[in-house]
Amino acid sequence: MIVMKFGGTSVGTAASIRATCEIIKSRLDRKPFVVVSAHNSPTCRMTDTLLKSADAALAGNPDPSEVIALQRGVCSDLGLDHSLVDDLLERFSNLLQGIAMIGEISPRTLDLVMSFGERMSHRVVSKVLNDEFGIRSDAVSSMDLGLLTDGIFGESQPDESCYAEVKKNVESYGDSVIITTGFLGKGPDGHITTLGRGGSDYSATIFGAAVGAAEVEIWTDVDGVMTADPKSAPEATSVSELSFAEASELSWYGAKVLHPATMIPSQKFGIPVRVLNTHNCSAPGTLIHDDVAKSTAIAKSIAHKKQINMVTITSSRMLGMPGFMAKVFEVCSRHQLDIHMIATSEVSITLTIPKDSNLKEAAEELKKYGEVVVEHNKAIVCIVGAEMAGVPGVASKVTTALAKAGVNIHMISQGATEINIALLVEQDDAEKSVKALHAELFA
Ligand code: ADP
Ligand code: ASP
Ligand code: MG
Repeated sequence: MIVMKFGGTSVGTAASIRATCEIIKSRLDRKPFVVVSAHNSPTCRMTDTLLKSADAALAGNPDPSEVIALQRGVCSDLGLDHSLVDDLLERFSNLLQGIAMIGEISPRTLDLVMSFGERMSHRVVSKVLNDEFGIRSDAVSSMDLGLLTDGIFGESQPDESCYAEVKKNVESYGDSVIITTGFLGKGPDGHITTLGRGGSDYSATIFGAAVGAAEVEIWTDVDGVMTADPKSAPEATSVSELSFAEASELSWYGAKVLHPATMIPSQKFGIPVRVLNTHNCSAPGTLIHDDVAKSTAIAKSIAHKKQINMVTITSSRMLGMPGFMAKVFEVCSRHQLDIHMIATSEVSITLTIPKDSNLKEAAEELKKYGEVVVEHNKAIVCIVGAEMAGVPGVASKVTTALAKAGVNIHMISQGATEINIALLVEQDDAEKSVKALHAELFA
C-alpha cells in the first residue's frame, strides 16, 4: 500500500481534481490510500474562506453564502449534484449562527469551522473517482477511520495507540480506494481537532505509519522540494534527494511545501516520502529517505521564514553566573515560546521567536533578569545541506553574498551537525537575501 496526499492546490479546481484522479488511477497496482486537503485555488481558497466567514459571524454577520458558492461551484464544474455536500453546508451555516449568537469562538469551534473544507473535498474527489473514472472508492473521514489525537485544538498530535485500529478499519474497505480528510483527527472526547495549518502533509505520514505504507507521495503544485521557494527565486530547480533531517530543517525554517512535523512519523518508521507535481506528473520530484548519496553541490536548499521577533536580554549579572540561561529558558518554556535561533555573549542572550507567540508576558517576566529589548519584523534565512559539514569557506561565501547584496545580518548560527546555516535579517531583505544566496550557491 502507498499513501498519496493531494494538497489544496491539487484539488483546487475541476481540472486539478480530474488530474488528481488520473494520477490515482495510474497507481492502482500499488494500492493507494488517498489523503486530500480542502480546495485551494486562486478562485476557491476554502480554508481561508471558512475562517473569514467565522470572523464575520463573530462580528455579528453570520453569512455562509461565500462558502456555499465556492463549494457548489466546484461541484457544478464537475457536473456533480450539490446534495453531495449540502448537509455539511447546512451544518456550517448553523455553526455560523451559533458563533454569532454566542459572540465567541473557542479553539474547539475554530477547529470545527476549518474541518468543513476537508470534509467536503474528500467526498467530491471520491465521487469523481467513482462516477467519472469508474474506480471503486469510499470517502471516509479520518475521524471515522479512528485517527485519534491528543485533543489539543489547533495543533494536535497523533496518538499512536490508535494505529492498529486505523489499519484494521482501512483493511475493512478491501480493494476500494479510500479518500480521507487531511489535517483532521478526533480528540479523546470525540471532538474534531486539526493538526495545524498545512497539516495534511502530516496526516499523510501519520496514515503511512498506521497502515505500514511502502511509500508516502506528497502531490503538490511544484516539481518537488526546490532549491528555494520558486515564488522568491523563480530560477529554483528541484532537489532530487533529501535526508529526513534535511527535509525537517527546511520545513521547520519555512519551506511551506512540507508541514514541519511531516518527517516525524516517516523517519520513525523509515517510510520514504516522495514530493511530486500534480500538474507535471512526469517530473521525478524529490525523494526523502535515509540513504542519500553525497552530492557535489554546496548545499541542498534555502528556506526562509518571516514575522520573526528578536529578543535580547542583557545583564552584567550573567558574567560568571551559572544557571542564568536555565532561568531564561524556564520562562520561555513556561510561556511555550518556540525558539528558533540563539546567540550568546558574556553579558547577553539573543533569541528569535515567531510573531504569534506569547511574547508580551514572557518579556515582562524576563525583565527580572536584565534589560529586555524586543525588535520586530525580522526574517530567518536558512541554508540546508549535509554537504556543508566539514567544508571550509561556506559561511564566508554566504556572508559575502549577503554583504554584496547590501543585507545586514543580525544573527548567524550553525549547529555542530553543520547541516544548516541560519541567518537573521530584516524582513524587508528576506527575498533579496534568498535571491543573492541562490545565485551564489546554485548558479
Ligand atoms: P499544497 O496545496 O500542495 O499543500 P502548499 O501551498 O502548501 O501546497 O505548498 C506548496 C508551495 O510551497 C509551493 O507552491 C511553493 O511556493 C512553496 N515552497 C516554499 N518553499 C519551497 C521549496 N523549498 N520547494 C518547493 N516549494 C516551496
Ligand atoms: N486545508 C488546511 C489548510 O489550508 C490543511 C492543508 O491544506 O494541509 O491549512
Ligand atoms: Mg500544504
